[in-house]
Amino acid sequence: MLHKTLTLRCRKMTKPGFTEITPTAPIQTEEHGGRAKCLQRLIRLDMPVPKTMALSFDAVRGVSAGDMPDLAAMLELFGEDPLISVRPSSEDPDWGGPGAILNIGMNDVVHGKLIETHGELAANALYLRFIQAYAVHVGRLDPDEFEDISTPTADTLQAALDHYEEETESYFPQDPKEQLAEVLRSMSRAWQGTTARLLREAKGAPADAGLGLVVQKMAIGVGRDVCGSGVIQFVNGQTGHREIRGRYLCKSQGRDALTEVEARDVMFLTKDKRGRSIEEVLPEMFQALLDCGDLCRTRLREEMEIEFTIDNEQLFILDAVRVARSERANVRIAVTLAKDKIISREEAVMRIPPRALSELLHSQIDPESPRDVFVTGIGASPGAATGKIVFSARAAQAMAAQGEDCILVRRETSPEDIRGMHAAKGILTIRGGITSHAAVIARGLGLPCVVGANGLSLEKKKQQLIAQDGRVLSEGDVITVDGEDGQALVGSVDMLPPELGESFCTLMEWVDEFRDIGVRANADTPPDARNARMFAAEGIGLCRTEHMFFDDDRLLAMREMIFADKPVDRRAALARLLPMQRDDFKELFEIMQGLPVCIRLFDPPLHEFLPHGREGMRELAEALDLPLSDVTRRVEGLREFNPMLGMRGVRLGVTVPEIYDMQARAIFEATLDASKLGDPIVPEIMIPLVSAKREVEIVKARIDAVAAAVKIERGEEFTYRLGVMVETPRAALRAGEIAQHVHFMSFGTNDLTQMTYGLSRDDAGRFMGEYVNQGVFPEDPFHVLDTEGVGELLEIGAARGREVDPDLTLSICGEHGGNPESIKFCRDAGFTYVSCSPFRVPVARLAAAHLALVARVGEQG
Ligand code: PEP
Ligand code: MG
Repeated sequence: MLHKTLTLRCRKMTKPGFTEITPTAPIQTEEHGGRAKCLQRLIRLDMPVPKTMALSFDAVRGVSAGDMPDLAAMLELFGEDPLISVRPSSEDPDWGGPGAILNIGMNDVVHGKLIETHGELAANALYLRFIQAYAVHVGRLDPDEFEDISTPTADTLQAALDHYEEETESYFPQDPKEQLAEVLRSMSRAWQGTTARLLREAKGAPADAGLGLVVQKMAIGVGRDVCGSGVIQFVNGQTGHREIRGRYLCKSQGRDALTEVEARDVMFLTKDKRGRSIEEVLPEMFQALLDCGDLCRTRLREEMEIEFTIDNEQLFILDAVRVARSERANVRIAVTLAKDKIISREEAVMRIPPRALSELLHSQIDPESPRDVFVTGIGASPGAATGKIVFSARAAQAMAAQGEDCILVRRETSPEDIRGMHAAKGILTIRGGITSHAAVIARGLGLPCVVGANGLSLEKKKQQLIAQDGRVLSEGDVITVDGEDGQALVGSVDMLPPELGESFCTLMEWVDEFRDIGVRANADTPPDARNARMFAAEGIGLCRTEHMFFDDDRLLAMREMIFADKPVDRRAALARLLPMQRDDFKELFEIMQGLPVCIRLFDPPLHEFLPHGREGMRELAEALDLPLSDVTRRVEGLREFNPMLGMRGVRLGVTVPEIYDMQARAIFEATLDASKLGDPIVPEIMIPLVSAKREVEIVKARIDAVAAAVKIERGEEFTYRLGVMVETPRAALRAGEIAQHVHFMSFGTNDLTQMTYGLSRDDAGRFMGEYVNQGVFPEDPFHVLDTEGVGELLEIGAARGREVDPDLTLSICGEHGGNPESIKFCRDAGFTYVSCSPFRVPVARLAAAHLALVARVGEQG
């Protein structure tokens, strides 16, 4: 014990509180920060990095508590009259930190000496720069007072010193040790300020994240002729293509070359007709920079931006940071590094965050473009679009027919709006949440969509939207919706187009080599199915057949069917729908070329197919040749207090069985027709909203009977797979007995979430923001699967189902199927596949690959 105390005390007495960065020094990112570690790597690669010391997180915490490192010892290591800089070194460079302070050590004596060696202007510039930084960051003086230091005359210098003295009532400190101590203290305290903490926490930093500091000998860069500083990178941060980019400014320091708007003495990096270039004037220096770039790329395995100084024809590398890049550039850079065998394919895949793919798949608002936001709601389907406001599906179709882009604005959408949604470029609804009708359809179509824009009021009669700030927008006004951020903006903005280039395709090929859970698409129409194929979905996991009944010619037959009093009339109306449905399914089978297609039988309440307004009722009465009063009475008769819990899904299958009979027949006939063109097709038929075993038995018996009839009529054989959607809590709990009758179970987590919480998916948007803000729910459960409550039901359903049938296919087809966290849950629970809207398929594939690769590392380690 005594021995231990002594060692500790000895260490304390001798420890200087800083570490010189040498190739072998014990520098760790977790202790000294990313910048310190990166500088060590550059030093190990023999790059000309000026002498640098690192202060650990602990040392910096000590500084703010008044425990300074041995600064005299440190300064001694920098030699006589040292000029040094201090820069932050947080664990993750994205967490930021206080700005760098340069030229510490400048005082009257050094100023005098520098006049001799570098000339008066250069000496003044260095001193002025330091006085300004010190006054603002340490003395907390008003930066505006020091603004004009561009002409570093003796007078400006004197004025700056006078101003400092007046404001602080003390001389400008001349002792380098005192200067350094004050700089370190101010930086350590700045890190602890509330704003800085909140800012870095927003970027994912832990509350107690530490700050390291690096103290580096200055390479002056303000000497004669081409002395100066610059930055160089070897890749375009927007596109990811290899090219030399950067700036160099003679007689400058730090990152001046980037920040000075009207740079005085710029030199180009590469040969350029417009003026001098480093490549021509200092070819060896240029070659040395290229070599440094190559070394960073091959040894640090990253595209880096290098900060350098040229001083008396000598090159110094001061720093290197990962090139800032767009998501599309990130994909190209990772794929190119892997193709060049610098990183593995696994690493390339892991370097791309799944959600970032969204930027490649959809148009985006140019981040540089100014935004005039008039409302913020919930971003329900990513991408951005600009168009003229229309308030009805019909107006959307009319505008599209004239070749004009429009944004469909509705209080909420209903199935009647589908064709208008197809015609629009984007959708904005005042009500609704992440699984409301508008959101689901928009995601399927890949259309940008904002829902739950509660701040707007819609004056239907005047055809006007009124924003909370009083602005009025009318039909025909141009707006832009950003389905990522949930914002709607007045006017148009600059856009970046989607990009599915070669690198994206290569990345996705690698992704599929690694992932171990299937990914299918929710696709209802042939265009959806084509998108599903384009994004390499392994089949259709959910085809919502009701969406097929909204074309004008079908809608009438559907309404006749709903109005039919007797089964025979109903069958007659359905007979008109049968060939259309058969063609729908045949086309889907053909597009999917033998991949599985899971068709969900009719799900919504029937009244969704009836007109709502008086005008619509009148048109219907005319079409059906019925008195208006009959139509109105019938529509009234179908109205339900709570349609989502009413006569829908399998309940229709049991009570109005002719609809499912027709659909089953259409599926089987299409199966036989499409099988003639290739391998036999095995359709999957899914029964929605099941809650009891008996429902499955009844529907199964009828479907089997239809199958037998079609086989006899056509004299041909086929097989099919039957499954249920588990979207009521009871179905999950009774999965054991239900599984006895089916081949697969697909968890419809939209309805399952709605029913587990007793929370309307169409109304949740009204208060979800508030609920999440107050921490009642950690996230919108319609967006991110509630792994505790709904998740428990999934686990129970999966376990009880698999207990009866270990080969039972398990999947999820609610909107959560495209969400990376939810995919993790499903993979852990042993699901066979996830299914999501086509545009989310790449995100789901990448997320699945990440999970498999992380699990692989876990198994190995
Ligand atoms: C679900 O409820 O999760 C589902 C996929 O079906 P829908 O969204 O069509 O109700
Ligand atoms: Mg459902």
